[in-house]
Amino acid sequence: GKSPLAVTPADPDWDATLVSPAPGPRMNATFVTLARNSDVWDIARSIRQVEDRFNRRYNYDWVFLNDKPFDETFKKVTTSLVSGQTHYGEIAEEHWSFPEWIDQAKAKKVREDMAERKIIYGDSVSYRHMCRFESGFFFRQPLMMNYEYYWRVEPSVELFCDIHYDPFRVMHEGGKKYSFVLSLYEYAETIKTLWDSTKKFIKNHPEHLAADNAMGFLSDDGGDTYNNCHFWSNFEVGNLNWLRSKAYTDFFESLDRDGGFFYERWGDAPVHSIAAGLMLNKSEIHFFDDIGYWHVPFTHCPTSEKTRSALRCHCNPSDNFDWKGYSCTSRFFDVAGLTRPEGWESQKD
Ligand code: GDP
Ligand code: MN
Repeated sequence: GKSPLAVTPADPDWDATLVSPAPGPRMNATFVTLARNSDVWDIARSIRQVEDRFNRRYNYDWVFLNDKPFDETFKKVTTSLVSGQTHYGEIAEEHWSFPEWIDQAKAKKVREDMAERKIIYGDSVSYRHMCRFESGFFFRQPLMMNYEYYWRVEPSVELFCDIHYDPFRVMHEGGKKYSFVLSLYEYAETIKTLWDSTKKFIKNHPEHLAADNAMGFLSDDGGDTYNNCHFWSNFEVGNLNWLRSKAYTDFFESLDRDGGFFYERWGDAPVHSIAAGLMLNKSEIHFFDDIGYWHVPFTHCPTSEKTRSALRCHCNPSDNFDWKGYSCTSRFFDVAGLTRPEGWESQKD
């Protein structure tokens, strides 16, 4: 069939494209959600929207992961909402605990200090396990090994537009390995030495750098310092084989050894973003402008009025974060040589 991106609102097939069952070849792909049993009603809202806007026509699988066993309510509610197969996995202890080389007393002191300084999640042990798990382990869980592409979905997110193509197929056909809808500056206090660790890794493994990488997205001085730009990882569509590659796993293992998941509060968003920015070619990172999305407190609403009406979006365009001062998306457009969508200038702050 026709490539999914080739179908436009002017096309006579357009309306059919929005309602008909799964056009085109299926990808080897799954949704993936990390959640607690107590997240059940918040993830139910997310699933309902993903199904209504996309998956009811495609029926892709959904993998749920938890550091504790899922209870019957969680399994019953989510299985009834997902149109594809559901799978439930319990995370192995070694993927959700302190590695033996971590100095517990030092880690505890950091948490107390961050609590005093009111740094968000600064005092949390479980948040740190979560960030380390999302950085280094979700893609090699037994349930994930049979898939090539993933789409990460968190509790309490919103989708604002119909998705008129298969994003997994867009990734596959475009040779894309990582994607985003929102980008912003990371809270510097949580990643003080992340860039030093990154530079050490680059020195030890120059072979893992991509020739046409997006260093310009991450650094304003050719790599000397980090500008804190990152892709927001609560939404991700990506290639699992890339995360399972020697390049990515060498990077994760080097960071993990340095201990910043516990001695600071490194997030999986800057970790994934730095990896994508340095070890992928820019053309392998995709911006899904068509996917209207909200995770507290930021919105991505397609800039172009034409796109919003063609996709029946229900977001308020003035909420769109893309061109505001705290977004890094403009920078990505410049680095990747992309043309800004029609109407972007009126959305600057
Ligand atoms: P935020 O988006 O950074 O504020 O963090 P969230 O609270 O949304 O957590 C990110 C993701 O990890 C969500 O999918 C949560 O459901 C999940 N998560 C966070 N903490 C835990 C935990 O302790 N156990 C499990 N199983 N999932 C968690
Ligand atoms: Mn969240």
